[in-house]
Amino acid sequence: MQAEKDHVVVFHYRVYEQGADAALESSHEAGSPLATLLGHGGLIPGLEKALYGHAAGDSFEVAVPSAEAYGEVRAGFTQRVAKKYFRDAARLKPGMRSVLNTNQGSRLVTVVKVGASVIDVDLNHPMAGKDLRFEVEIVEVRAATPEELAHGHSHGVGGHQH
Ligand code: ZN
Repeated sequence: MQAEKDHVVVFHYRVYEQGADAALESSHEAGSPLATLLGHGGLIPGLEKALYGHAAGDSFEVAVPSAEAYGEVRAGFTQRVAKKYFRDAARLKPGMRSVLNTNQGSRLVTVVKVGASVIDVDLNHPMAGKDLRFEVEIVEVRAATPEELAHGHSHGVGGHQH
C-alpha cells in the first residue's frame, strides 16, 4: 500500500542539521516509531510531503529547509513562567530544555534564566532556523480507522494514546 491522504504511516527517523553527523533526534533511541495520519497537519510540512507514495520497507533521505520545518528563530520570543508549571523546576539551568504544559498542549522550551520563583524560557522550537535532513524508514502504511479520521490523528503505537 502506498501512502496517501488519510493513511496512517508508521516510520522510524533520524533527524540531522544539514551538514552535521550527529543526529538531533532519533525515534530509534526513543524506542518506538512515530505514527502520523497524512493530510491532517500532524507533522512539519516538508517531512509529511516526503512520506506520500512510500510503502512499508522503503527507506529514504529527505532535505527539509527550515521554512518547511520549524520556521525561523523569532527574536525576543521569551516568556516568564512560574516554577510550578514545570515538573522538573528544581534541576533546571540556563540552556537546558524542559516541557511546559500550556492550555494548547505541551511545548518544548529552552531555559534562559532561573529566578527564585519564576523561570524565563525561550519558546522557539529547538530546531527553529535549522535546515534539516531526515533519514526515514517506513514500518507500516495502513488505512486510517473511522475513529482516527474523526479525531484527525493516529492511534496506537507512535500515535495518540487515549
Ligand atoms: Zn484520538
